[in-house]
Amino acid sequence: MSKRDYYEVLGISKGADAAEIKKAYRTKAKELHPDRNTDNPKAEAQFKEAGEAYECLKDAEKKAAYDRYGHAAFEGGMGGGGRPGGAGGQGDFGSAFSDIFDDLFGNMGGARGGGAQNRAQRGNDLRYNLRVSLEEAYAGLQKTVTVPTAVGCGSCKGTGAEGGSEPQTCPTCSGMGKVRAQQGFFTVERTCPTCNGMGQTIKNPCPECHGQGRVEKEKSLSVNIPAGVETGTRIRLAGEGEAGMRGGPSGDLYIFIEVREHDLFEREANHLFCRVPVSMTKAALGGDIEVPTIDGGRSRVKIPAGSQSGRQMRLRSKGMPALRGGGAGDMFIEMAVETPVNLTSKQKELLKEFDDLASDNNPQSSTFFKSVKSFWDSMKG
Ligand SMILES: [Zn+2]
Ligand SMILES: [Zn+2]
Repeated sequence: MSKRDYYEVLGISKGADAAEIKKAYRTKAKELHPDRNTDNPKAEAQFKEAGEAYECLKDAEKKAAYDRYGHAAFEGGMGGGGRPGGAGGQGDFGSAFSDIFDDLFGNMGGARGGGAQNRAQRGNDLRYNLRVSLEEAYAGLQKTVTVPTAVGCGSCKGTGAEGGSEPQTCPTCSGMGKVRAQQGFFTVERTCPTCNGMGQTIKNPCPECHGQGRVEKEKSLSVNIPAGVETGTRIRLAGEGEAGMRGGPSGDLYIFIEVREHDLFEREANHLFCRVPVSMTKAALGGDIEVPTIDGGRSRVKIPAGSQSGRQMRLRSKGMPALRGGGAGDMFIEMAVETPVNLTSKQKELLKEFDDLASDNNPQSSTFFKSVKSFWDSMKG
């Protein structure tokens, strides 16, 4: 596809002066800007095309070359390769034309940034692993955590410059953080080597922070851990991460929760499970047992006569509280019927007597043995 004429792209005549060219581009760029034309590849292509045309025509030298030779002025062999308007000219229109964006739109959209002060780097997010007990997760807690981090430097108030002196706008890039090198007709843009893209230089760096505007320090923070947290819960403390470079915004601090295993209770979501031993006689005859609850209290539970091992009973709302509102979970008790050991001779005697009497009235074993008998019968046949 042959390239469109740059004047045609901007909708102006060949005689247009610098002010007209800029005005025409401003109008086109606003109309076609990706922020206003999301998912519109046609607008995006036209937007790039307009940027490229402007990039050329705003420069008197390039404009003269274009007026004389047309697009051929910028094609292979005439200079350093690439097209006017940035390295390669494809795809990365954001950085290639960023100075124009800044010029025309200021901080529109936020992401592209304006002057040098917006280039100050944001501090890192920090992660702190906090192990809590199940009881703490149940009740919630206030915890003081100490994190090694970076805080704004007090001596220079975060500027990085010594004794109240102000950082200077970088003379190399005039605070843009980027420089453009002319190669023949072409302009290549790169990060400013003087200020490393910060847009500012510091004549006398603060000795405390070596010009970084922040110093390493342990910070103690009181953290509110809500009731109901579980392993994997993440609590974000906005702005409590590392301080930014030279007064840049702070990162966030994330508290990662791990809930320790408990000796008595097993947790599944907001439900708790507890295995409770029950004597053989209590399981047979029925009765009350006392079980522990996570709040440190106890509950009385009625065991129905004839309970088998593994039988579960539910105590409503005795589980963990819900982290994001809603009702609490339940507590489940699983009975573990215990076979008595270390019997006295009297107990043995009574159990033998019991066995003689009880041989046939156990519903589960009688069903089982009936099945076994028919199984053996079928094997014989
Ligand atoms: Zn300092
Ligand atoms: Zn610079």
